[in-house]
Formats: sequence, structure tokens, C-alpha cells
Amino acid sequence: MAGITTSLSVAVLPGDGIGREVMAACLALLAAAEAVSGGPALALTPHPAGAQYYLESGDALPAATVAACRNADAILFGAMGWPDVRFPDGTEIIPQLDLRMEFDLYAGVRPIRWFPGLPRILADERARGIDFVLVREQTEGLFYARGRGQVIEDRESCDTMRITRAGTARASAFAFGLAERRRARRGSARVTCIDKANVFTSMAFFRKVFDEVAAAYPEIAADHAYVDAMALTMVKKPWALDVMVTENMFGDILSDLAAGLVGGMGMAPSADIGDRHALFQPAHGTAPDIAGQGKANPCAMFLSAAMMLDWLAERHAAPELEVRARLIEAAIAVTLSSGTTPMEVGGDADCAAMTRATIAALPAAI
Ligand code: ATP
Ligand code: MG
Repeated sequence: MAGITTSLSVAVLPGDGIGREVMAACLALLAAAEAVSGGPALALTPHPAGAQYYLESGDALPAATVAACRNADAILFGAMGWPDVRFPDGTEIIPQLDLRMEFDLYAGVRPIRWFPGLPRILADERARGIDFVLVREQTEGLFYARGRGQVIEDRESCDTMRITRAGTARASAFAFGLAERRRARRGSARVTCIDKANVFTSMAFFRKVFDEVAAAYPEIAADHAYVDAMALTMVKKPWALDVMVTENMFGDILSDLAAGLVGGMGMAPSADIGDRHALFQPAHGTAPDIAGQGKANPCAMFLSAAMMLDWLAERHAAPELEVRARLIEAAIAVTLSSGTTPMEVGGDADCAAMTRATIAALPAAI
């Protein structure tokens, strides 16, 4: 894919609630960063989807939006869904899950990093070094049950956890690939398989396939942890964690726990990556409790955009995009460490103030 790229297209899906608010902030930051870094321009085109659009049109994820996502070089996503807005059958509007399946975005990548300036949840000095990545398998696991569960005679209900060899192998290989890149930067790397192999056959199979994949990466350390033990480790010594890979539902739960360690959902970016397509979005939802008040912390959205730039840089051999990603991360670090503190963690900087400060920090950041 090497070559000179002058422009890349990004399908922008702002969605609902604070998704729209942090997306507007992010588009302003991306434009400012592009002006500083140079390199390929991003053509950022908005497309409708989500709960509000469903109310207006009767369609939560229009075919034209899916087609635009398919044709774009990357997808940038705010957040979607709203508590009272549901399909006639009572199910929630969660187009992000449909997009994961549509584009086979099997690897949910959730990096967790503590930035100086944020209040520390853990008093231990070593908590300054929190820097780990959770890889969540996103096409099967317990989420396979979505739309398939049943209640039998109003007496009992059952959901199915599905683990396949192919699904586990590709998520595990993705985690080891990530660990190889971290090893190049940090000297060593480890991948931990998180499961519940002592109780569930499906999870024992997940671990077995993980071990087979691990054997192909002898230079990367590999180990295992039960999900309950990992919940404890995440709180007791998260600085010791590196790369982790786990089943869909465990990943969903642990990534919210992990976000709490570094300030909250507004500090947790994520990427949904497949072999052809990738979608980048903050790990949080639409936050109805604070939506419309301008209080959202846009950092998770900013960091997700930086992940998008890194992914595009690699695929299109465009090192300027990597520079742009580092520029955005550095500007966030400068902003947080110089006393501009998001309301989410008790500061007084609202979304607009965080955005202004981060954009102002850009030129100084390289
Ligand atoms: P989802 O179902 O999409 O996972 P959720 O129900 O888990 O969503 P979120 O929307 O992620 O909920 O919000 C969880 C909590 O975190 C809420 O109290 C919300 O206000 C807060 N929160 C989430 N994102 C942010 C943000 N960017 N800035 C400030 N607070 C946030
Ligand atoms: Mg959640």
C-alpha cells in the first residue's frame, strides 16, 4: 500500500448525546492538527445514524451510511443510543454492534494510560505507570447471544456463549501483533489470556487456542488469568499489566473497570479493527445524564482519533499521520499536566475549554 497519499476519506458518525458533542470537538482538533503536521488531508464526511435519526426517519442505520462506511478509509464514531428510544420489539438501538458484525471488526482495542495531571485513583506511586491494552474479541463470545436468547414459558432463560477456533485465533494473533510493536518500543512485552477456563468448556477452549497462537510468538511472554482474579489485579497493581486478550463480555466489563483507573470513560479511547475496515470511537456511551450540558470530557474521542491516524499511517505508508497522532497525544498531555482539568474528574474545564486548551497546545507539542 506504500505510495504518496494526498487525501484519505473518513466516514464520520456523530450519533447521539455526548457523542455529537465530543465529535464536534474532535473535528476541530483534527483540522488544527492537520494544519500543524502537514501530510495527507482527511476528508471528513458526516453520515446519519443513531437513536435521534431513528426518531426522525424510522431508520437507525441507513444503508447509505453503511455504504459510505464501506467506501471510506476509516470510520470515526461518536456514540449512539438513548434510553427511551427503542425498536418496536423493545430492543435498544446499538448500531455500533451492527457495524462490528457488518465489517467483521473482531479486535476491540482499548488502551488505558494514566496522564500526569489527572487525579490518581490509586495512591501508589507506581500507578503513574499505568499503560496497558485490552484486546476484546468482538464477533462472538457471550454477545453471540444478542437477538438469539429466549425465555422459556416465562420460567427460565438461556443465552449462549460461542467460542470458535478461528475467532479466538485471530483475536489472539492480533494481541501478539500489538505486543510485538510494544516490545519494539519498550524492550519487552507480555500477552495475558483472560478467561474462566476452570469453569466453562468454552473458556477452556479459548485458552487452548490462545496457547497454540502463543507458540508462534516465542519472543513474547504469554500467561493466563481468570477473569475474577484479573478484576482484582487491575485494582491492586495495574502498572504490572501489558497486553491482554479476552472474550467479548469479559472485555466489555473489564474495559469500564480499566477506564475507572485513569479518570473515567472520558479518558478511554477504543478502536474496532478488522482485516479491511476499522472504526474508532471513545469507549463511552451517549451519557444521557450529562448530555446537552457541554460537560463531556472529549479526551477519549481525541485519543480515538489519534488511534485512527496511527492505523491510517501504517496502512497508507503516511508517516505524517503518525506525527499528527503523536501531536494530538502530546497536546492532551500538555493540557492535562498544565492544570486544565476535565469536569469528569472534578475540574472545571468543560468540553469547549478542554478543546480550546488542547488545540492551543498543539504547536508547542512537537
Ligand atoms: P453504553 O451502554 O454505551 O456502554 P453506558 O450506559 O455504559 O453506555 P456511558 O454513556 O458510557 O454509559 O456513561 C457511563 C457514565 O460515565 C455516565 O455517568 C456518564 O456521564 C459518564 N461519562 C461517560 N463518558 C463521559 C465523558 N466523555 N465525559 C464525562 N463523563 C462521561
Ligand atoms: Mg458501558
